[in-house]
Amino acid sequence: MIKIETQAFIQAKFSEYYEKNSMNIQPPASMEKREFGFFLLKERIMLRHKSYKTAEELRDSLKKLVPSNVYYSSAYYELPEEKMDEKGWLGADLIFDIDADHIPTPCAKTHDTWTCRKCKTTGSGTPPERCPKCNEQKFEEKTWPCDVCLESAKEETIKLIDILTKDFGVSTREISIGFSGHRGYHLHVESEETVALGSIGRKEIVDYIVGIGLDPQLHGLSRIAGPNLDDFGWKGRIARGTYEYLLSATPEQLEKIGLRKGAIQSLSEHKERILESWKYKGPWAMVKGVSPESWGKIVEEAVKKQAAQIDTVVTTDIHRLIRLGNTLHGKTGLKKTGTSLAAIEEFDPLKSAVAFHHGTATVVVSEAPKFRIGDEFHGPYRNEKVELPLAAALFLLCKGAARITEDGSSVR
Ligand SMILES: [Zn+2]
Ligand SMILES: [Zn+2]
Repeated sequence: MIKIETQAFIQAKFSEYYEKNSMNIQPPASMEKREFGFFLLKERIMLRHKSYKTAEELRDSLKKLVPSNVYYSSAYYELPEEKMDEKGWLGADLIFDIDADHIPTPCAKTHDTWTCRKCKTTGSGTPPERCPKCNEQKFEEKTWPCDVCLESAKEETIKLIDILTKDFGVSTREISIGFSGHRGYHLHVESEETVALGSIGRKEIVDYIVGIGLDPQLHGLSRIAGPNLDDFGWKGRIARGTYEYLLSATPEQLEKIGLRKGAIQSLSEHKERILESWKYKGPWAMVKGVSPESWGKIVEEAVKKQAAQIDTVVTTDIHRLIRLGNTLHGKTGLKKTGTSLAAIEEFDPLKSAVAFHHGTATVVVSEAPKFRIGDEFHGPYRNEKVELPLAAALFLLCKGAARITEDGSSVR
């Protein structure tokens, strides 16, 4: 639980931010048809079913409420302020959430921790299915945004953009992307073609993107042939994924996916020829000792590499609330920050999303891994008092990993 002084400090800083920066907060398209929601810092409640006609009204509200999180509906409603079933759903943007929580990264073990809700057993990394001590399935998780995690979320976002534009023909003009302010990216498609899609239609899109129920045989894989690198849609993705997989896979990895010794040996012996073979018809029929079943297993890995790891629940929820651009994330004090498709490769979320550029604060950190805010690394810390740049201090305070020093005199 965040202490009163700490909460007041966060509130004061968030308030300053909204006083100074509300002009940078742009409402979504057709704002009057959207539902807005706010999580209130002090009251710790969600205020929902709000609507605004103008950007000014919305900005005034942010200054007055000083919420820890600001959301708007991906949906358009006739009456956004009514109860859910009386709003009159008119359509919704197609939205995607790519979060490091859904991507297994090797670093999670070094910075994330979990605590069993029942017996308080703790561990590092992502929580197990069940608590090893008491069998409970609910955990408190403490996750951190780190460069490796954010980079993998970015890679998934870039894959998603590729699938949406090439396979679905979504125009780049209809896509907007932003760093969530914590551990991932949001991607929105605002298009006439997708706005009216219901949950089931969106589920079909999700299944395609994550490669669920993909039958390689329907994509040209047989005893004698397989898809080519330049084929359209999943055919080409399977071919390119297979190419990349075979390029990097070690014999141990091939064994792990269930290939027999003979097949593994054959694949490593003919590696050069296999890679060369893509110029013609691919390796599908040319490697002796690799059965169609083995190719099937390799293709499964290829599909995993090519699919984009999205939070499937978010996309199919046609009433979803999503964070508004340039508002603060209550868990980090960073702002949700947009980037263009052209600039995403170079985009540095932990730098661009910094909302506080001046001042320092002294905080008592209970525990924090090494982290980066802006250009500077801090920590790791354990039970120590440190003076930090305001953005870094606020980050720890919002994370619940630190408290403000009580005298307040060290705060500048
Ligand atoms: Zn337990
Ligand atoms: Zn990480």
